[in-house]
Amino acid sequence: MGPLLNVSNVEIMYHPFILVIKNLSLSVEKGSITCLIGPNGAGKTTLLKAVSGVIKYERGRVTRGSIQLEGEDITNREPDEIARRGVIYVMEGRRIFKELTTEENLVSVAYAAGASRDDIRSVLSYFPRLKERLGEKAGNLSGGEQQMLAIAMALLYRPKLLMLDEPSLGLAPKITSQIYATIKMLHREEGLTILLAEQNARKALEISDYGYVIENGRIVLEGSAEELRLDKDVAEFYLGMG
Ligand code: ATP
Repeated sequence: MGPLLNVSNVEIMYHPFILVIKNLSLSVEKGSITCLIGPNGAGKTTLLKAVSGVIKYERGRVTRGSIQLEGEDITNREPDEIARRGVIYVMEGRRIFKELTTEENLVSVAYAAGASRDDIRSVLSYFPRLKERLGEKAGNLSGGEQQMLAIAMALLYRPKLLMLDEPSLGLAPKITSQIYATIKMLHREEGLTILLAEQNARKALEISDYGYVIENGRIVLEGSAEELRLDKDVAEFYLGMG
């Protein structure tokens, strides 16, 4: 069987001719955590937006190559079709309904996703802190709690592929570690397949099986997380060990 997600020789442009991703290929094996690491502006978010289809809302599109999910072409498909096929994208910056309570956020997504109260309960078992904050307005949650809520909401869709965009953004190291421990646990216990975009290479490589380094819209290096951790350039430029 081939990979769950296969991005093949993809070029991505924003209107009118802003070329951001240049001939990029990557794949995500079923059951793996795969990370895409690279500096700010390298194109990580653009790639995830193209896979999920939401890039069309920013007048961007795949102009060459193809994106396949389980061997089926999803290139430039509608975002709701891609989500229905099981690709769920947790955007950078935690898109939650800030005026609603934690519970209302979960219930409204459960409704849209066809998930039950039991599903909410089982998702919440991974997020004990959220359980204590069910009645709180989401806007009053801490950054880490909001990130947990965004992930919990995504899980209610029972994703085949969960794409997380910079889950550590703006969070203190201790909170980042908690989020990462939760992601790892979800992967282990639910067999979730995850594609993770991160500037925080150290954290991402700690939990990933395989990784890609993206710079300026191109993959410059790929390998097992172990290989990347031991790579001299990765250590110097991304792990601050130069
Ligand atoms: P970050 O860590 O900031 O999210 P990133 O690696 O995810 O960085 P992108 O956000 O994908 O990078 O941005 C890649 C490039 O695409 C940048 O040069 C950015 O200016 C450009 N870009 C992003 N969104 C748009 C848009 N809607 N229209 C035009 N150019 C864009």
